[in-house]
Amino acid sequence: MVDPVRSRERMVREQIEARGVSDPAVLSAMRSLHRHLFVEEALAYKAYSDGPLPIGEGQTISQPYIVALMSELLEVEEGMKVLEIGTGSGFQAAVLAHMGAEVYTVERIKKLFFVARKRFMDMRMFSVKLKLDDGTMGWADEAPFDRIIVTAGGPEVPEPLVDQLADNGRMLIPVGTSKRNQTLILIEKKDGEVTRTDKGAVAFVDLVGNHGW
Ligand code: SAH
Repeated sequence: MVDPVRSRERMVREQIEARGVSDPAVLSAMRSLHRHLFVEEALAYKAYSDGPLPIGEGQTISQPYIVALMSELLEVEEGMKVLEIGTGSGFQAAVLAHMGAEVYTVERIKKLFFVARKRFMDMRMFSVKLKLDDGTMGWADEAPFDRIIVTAGGPEVPEPLVDQLADNGRMLIPVGTSKRNQTLILIEKKDGEVTRTDKGAVAFVDLVGNHGW
């Protein structure tokens, strides 16, 4: 495959910086992490290209730009407790861990959960804690979370996630009835008051939960 260091540098310059992401901690994570180790070997040569890639079970690793954009919008600071719903390949969780967060990530598909868990062990990334469960229920035992990021989209914002968001917390979640009409929503909690801001169109795989959707 092409020299990954150069592919990575090019990915950061052309896909991420050029589109306006400038948070140094995000750029450093995207430059340092070996994204090709988060996909099957047969797809490694595409790991730095400008799009999502299949990771099995009908799921995808998100486009690098979207991972970078969401990581920036989340405004993660070192030591923060961050909940991710939809571990998938583990790449987004690894970016947040590289930024200094204590990451709690939930995946509902067994096979993806085990592959991601092994990946974090092999990489010695111990600041990521994984759980096999329905993430629409959050992770009550570890709540509250300073930040929550949902990397799959459903028609509504699951109420347990809003409840588990700390005061002054931020949550990012794709909301829409299908992949074609999803919007990235930023939810902020201040003095118990919850506000929502539209952050533009996105296209994530389905958030499959126990809400009768
Ligand atoms: N953040 C991932 C993106 C994976 S795609 C990455 O960086 O690779 C979204 C993932 O969300 C899929 O793996 C899917 O199985 C998972 N998912 C969907 N609904 C879920 C739910 N209710 N709870 C936990 N995981 C869920």
